Amino acid sequence: TKEDVKSYLFRNAFVLLTVTAVIVGTILGFTLRPYRMSYREVKYFSFPGELLMRMLQMLVLPLIISSLVTGMAALDSKASGKMGMRAVVYYMTTTIIAVVIGIIIVIIIHPGKGTKENMHREGKIVQVTAADAFLDLIRCSLQIWWKLALNRFKTNYEKRSFKVPIQSNETLMAAVINNVSEAMETLTRITEELIPVPGSVNGVNALGLVVFSMCFGLVIGNMKEQGQALREFFDSLNEAIMRLVAVIMWYAPLGILFLIAGKIVEMEDMGVIGGQLAMYTVTVIVGLLIHAVIVLPLLYFLVTRKNPWVFIGGLLQALITALGTSSSSATLPITFKCLEENNGVDKRVTRFVLPVGATINMDGTALYEALAAIFIAQVNNFELNFGQIITISITATAASIGAAGIPQAGLVTMVIVLTSVGLPTDDITLIIAVDWFLDRLRTTTNVLGDSLGAGIVEHLSRHELKNRDIEMGNSVIEE
Ligand code: ASP
Repeated sequence: TKEDVKSYLFRNAFVLLTVTAVIVGTILGFTLRPYRMSYREVKYFSFPGELLMRMLQMLVLPLIISSLVTGMAALDSKASGKMGMRAVVYYMTTTIIAVVIGIIIVIIIHPGKGTKENMHREGKIVQVTAADAFLDLIRCSLQIWWKLALNRFKTNYEKRSFKVPIQSNETLMAAVINNVSEAMETLTRITEELIPVPGSVNGVNALGLVVFSMCFGLVIGNMKEQGQALREFFDSLNEAIMRLVAVIMWYAPLGILFLIAGKIVEMEDMGVIGGQLAMYTVTVIVGLLIHAVIVLPLLYFLVTRKNPWVFIGGLLQALITALGTSSSSATLPITFKCLEENNGVDKRVTRFVLPVGATINMDGTALYEALAAIFIAQVNNFELNFGQIITISITATAASIGAAGIPQAGLVTMVIVLTSVGLPTDDITLIIAVDWFLDRLRTTTNVLGDSLGAGIVEHLSRHELKNRDIEMGNSVIEE
């Protein structure tokens, strides 16, 4: 019908606009680069991009809460339990595959060539006590945080003073928050500052919020009539947020254009990047491509027997937003829109699976952390034995779960991986120069993994969803 054609054009106009934004942003960035803008000028120039970032972040918290609460409340506890299991199995499987790909690729390509003078390090660092490792972790987290901050404000960092936000919640304890508003404040502060803080604090608070919202949703889902008011409240809150997202989506292409142009204008000269680092960048790109273009689509096809490329086509705007913002949390609102509207994924699945995925499922980050750790070992001529490689796989998985969906969070949690096998954590500075770029690519992979996961979980849960529809008297759409 005419309406269909119109909405088809509408959707493609979006994709077209977004792709154009990336291209124009890149050209604009490289055109303006030679003029060497001052820090102040860059800030003004990047304003439209910064605005997009803030608008998206503004929506993330209410979105996570309302979608998880309604998502859980819309299912009975048995169905949500099954769906949760499937999601977790998917997250773990894909993360482990990603880590293995990272390890194999970095061993085959071998981008890091150790120099003779590094040899002495071999054998020297063998035994690390837990206390040493812990102190090292704190010291290096601070150091990296500091260096990133300097990097970001390098043009006039002398004029600024930094507050170093440190919290030392234990990971498990922090999964259970004792103060919802405090958790929200911390998360807002961190996402606002756009600078990763040491350790996994940031991720933990998001996790706390996720756990709380899930419990809350589960309870009001089981409350029969008494829960009706709350169910309706969160439902309409969620609907309102999604309408705001629809408005922001119109602004997104412009924001992405300036995010990309601004970054290109302010980035360090490429001449600084030496041969090893260039090889390293290529290795990361190859690894991420294998995971994102071959493994994940294949997995989607094997499970659902549907064309993965049609599905990925519907996600284009989310993927480009991830590329522009380098934050999977900030991209979350757009991911929701793409999955629900373009790909028609059941809302009960997206609401349930996406916020959790954005918090803990980071294939790109896991692949990156394992790969980077082995690269650093190679640079140091540090022979890793099989046990150490297994340790790296495990800690890289943990570090990707702990990393928050904010820019460069993965670089900070990498300390855990390096410390676990006694690699010099200071060497993270070797790869900082290219991290802003690689971060964008791994974030895009993260968002892709979450989205394909939603499609896979929906397919596996189709019977439960249908039964629930019959139970609730909804109209059932036959496949
Ligand atoms: N920036 C990534 C994300 O938001 C996390 C990372 O640094 O790897 O998904």
